[in-house]
Amino acid sequence: MKGAVLYGPRDVRFEERATPQITQSTDAIIRLSATCVCGSDLWPYRGIQRLTEPAPMGHEYCGIVEEVGSAVKRIKSGQFVIGSFFASDNTCPACQIGYQSSCQHLQPVIGAQAPVLRVPLADGTLVATQDRPAQGLIPSLLAVSDVMGTGWFAADAANVKPGCTVAVVGDGAVGLLAVLSAKLMGAERIIAMSRHETRQKLAQEFGATDIVAERGAAGVARIMELTRGVGADSVLECVGTRESMMQAIEATRRGGYVGYVGVPHGVELDADGLFFTHVHLHGGPAPVRRYLPKLIDLVLSEKIKPGKVFDLTLPLERVAEGYRAMDERRAIKALLQP
Ligand SMILES: [Zn+2]
Repeated sequence: MKGAVLYGPRDVRFEERATPQITQSTDAIIRLSATCVCGSDLWPYRGIQRLTEPAPMGHEYCGIVEEVGSAVKRIKSGQFVIGSFFASDNTCPACQIGYQSSCQHLQPVIGAQAPVLRVPLADGTLVATQDRPAQGLIPSLLAVSDVMGTGWFAADAANVKPGCTVAVVGDGAVGLLAVLSAKLMGAERIIAMSRHETRQKLAQEFGATDIVAERGAAGVARIMELTRGVGADSVLECVGTRESMMQAIEATRRGGYVGYVGVPHGVELDADGLFFTHVHLHGGPAPVRRYLPKLIDLVLSEKIKPGKVFDLTLPLERVAEGYRAMDERRAIKALLQP
C-alpha cells in the first residue's frame, strides 16, 4: 500500500509502505473510510519538532475492521469503528478515572494517512457504531477521533459551565471545535480569538458571540474590556506557543480556569506570577476515549457537525497538498480520501 511519510521540513511523500499486519494478539487492522492532516502534524512538517528518521504520518481515523488478533473480544471484523491517537487498555487505574491518554499501557497510533491501519489494544481503544454510518456523517465521525475530542477536553478541563464566559485562544480546527464544545456545555458568552475571516465565520456558526482579532497584550486588553475588567471564567488554549499560553493565563479571571490542549513548544511558566493569579491550569493530550461514546452519539443524532472544519478534501495521494494548504493557512483542515 502507499501512505504518507515525512522525511524532513516540508518534505512529505506518498510512498510504498508495508501493509500493516496483526503483530500482537490485542491488535485490530482497519480499512480507513477517511483520514486527515492534524495541526500537530505541522510541528514536524515545519521543522520545529526534529525528526531522526522518516516518519509515517497520521493519527486520526475511522473505518471498517478487517481483522482482529486472537485476544480481541469486543471488536469484530466488519464493524465501523473510531479510535483516538493514543491506544489505551481502558482498564488500568488511569483509564478508569477517565485519563486514557495517560494509560499505563499507552501506545501511539501512527501511520493513519494510509488506506490501512494497525490499532493496538483494540478492545480498549476502539468504539464501534451499531450500524454502518451514512457517508455524509464520515467527516464528523472522523473529527471526533481527535479535534472534536480535544476541543471538548479543552472546555471540560477549563470547567465550562452553563452561563459562564469563555475565551478561546487559537482558531485552528481544535479552537473552532472548542467553541462548539463550550456552546454545548451551556456557555453564555464565547469570545473567539481570530483574525482570519473564514475562521471567524465558522466560530460564529459554532456559537461564538464575540470575536477578538488582537493578539498578545492587546488581545488580553480587549478581553478585559469585554468582561468589564474581570477576565473570562474559562479560557481554552488551543495553540501551544509561549505567547498563546501567556495570553490564556492573563485573560482568565481570578480563580478561573485554563484548559490547555495545544502541544507546548517553548512554553515556560513563571511560578511566582502564576501564584498570585489564582488561576487553575489543567491540560495535556486529550483523553478522547473518555468522550468517544458521547460525541459519536451527538454526531449520529446530527446534533453536532464537527466535520465542518474540513474545508479541503483531497484524494489520499495528494496528501502533500493537504500539508501545504494547512501550513499556508489556506485550509483549516484537510480531509484525505483513501
Ligand atoms: Zn489504561
